[in-house]
Amino acid sequence: MATQVIIVDDDPIVGSLSLELLKDAGFTVLLISDSLKAIDAIKKEKPSLVVLDILMPGIDGLTLLHKLKSDPETEKIHAIVVSGKSFEAEKIRARQFGAEEFIEKPYDIDAFPQKVAAILKTEGHEPVKIARPPSAPPPVVRADVKLTVWGCRSTSSAMSPMVTRYGKHTSCVSVELSNSLIVFDAGSGISLLGNELMKTGKHKELWIFLTHFHADHVEGLAGLPCARDAAYTLNIGGPREPDKPLEQLLAAALEPGFGGDAPPCKIELYELMEQTYEILPGVRLAAFYANHPGTTLGFSLLAEDRKISYVPDSELYGPFATALQDYDEKLGGLVRDSDILFHDGRYTDEDYKTNRNAGHSSFLAAVDFAGRNNVKQLVLVHHDDRYADDTLDKIAKAAEARVAEKGYALKVVLGREGLRLTV
Ligand SMILES: [Zn+2]
Repeated sequence: MATQVIIVDDDPIVGSLSLELLKDAGFTVLLISDSLKAIDAIKKEKPSLVVLDILMPGIDGLTLLHKLKSDPETEKIHAIVVSGKSFEAEKIRARQFGAEEFIEKPYDIDAFPQKVAAILKTEGHEPVKIARPPSAPPPVVRADVKLTVWGCRSTSSAMSPMVTRYGKHTSCVSVELSNSLIVFDAGSGISLLGNELMKTGKHKELWIFLTHFHADHVEGLAGLPCARDAAYTLNIGGPREPDKPLEQLLAAALEPGFGGDAPPCKIELYELMEQTYEILPGVRLAAFYANHPGTTLGFSLLAEDRKISYVPDSELYGPFATALQDYDEKLGGLVRDSDILFHDGRYTDEDYKTNRNAGHSSFLAAVDFAGRNNVKQLVLVHHDDRYADDTLDKIAKAAEARVAEKGYALKVVLGREGLRLTV
């Protein structure tokens, strides 16, 4: 009996539920929890249909789908995409990449096998258990780690007449370790960092990690002064889109600044998946998928005995989570015990209600999330560009009040341009 259906889902509860539902309906099913092993297993088993979860460590479901559908060996396999992520953009892309169905979690336990049956006709194998490779413990060194917020607005408001103490630049945070400079995102704030670097001449090699390719995270690249200087090396890491490699995405962001030519600086690219990378000796970077439209990463930097997490575009469901929307728990497991967490706190609770499923969080959800996950310091970032200082001041006070009310051992501050912190 050949395997009819392969389920690729890293979540043990949802994965086994899907497995049981389909087995009960008479299908021969195989569950794969490690998405990195999925392609090989699918090629070996040749199932008639695959069920792919979108948010998975390793390769996300849409990239997997795109790979399967662009390989002549696997293009004929039917595909269903399942996700707790219900952004319209994901549904459209799933269809574009060839999925027959997009099923939102939690899914209807009767409708799910029926949908599979409708796509399939009929047909088995032993489930394969795949263990994740163990990761090495972080190295131990202690010295001051200096962090600077260069931009923390949600949308470029450079043209807005608003006068603000919190700044108008978009996402960029730098982390200065003993011997290296790590930069998260390249929103317009990166130009301020670039100016300082050109002045001090301190770091000629930068490690820039991009969460995703929305303009407010890459718009500063084209004007980055270091990119115009051949003495600089930019190591740039970021996600790929299922249909666009990182190289292409980066060229689109950089080229406008150089009239279509490559910039004079040296550039090394690193396409990142949900995985932990040793980027420099003793400096590890954990990349993971965040709940935001499009392929979006969050990061935890594990270096010099610190855990520094950066997740600027991330919708926590908080009290609105449905039973199978486990993003908050998943992210909690990843950023738990961070010395500092930069997290999306774009909206007031009131504005969040009218902006649900847009990929951003309310600041109170972020405070509760950080408090529950033993984060030592939370920096709320990605402020809505329409918020003037009085609203942001109120948010800062309300965030502190929430910490006191709940008794969290957490320090919370509102990000602002030029904010310097030490951990
Ligand atoms: Zn953003």
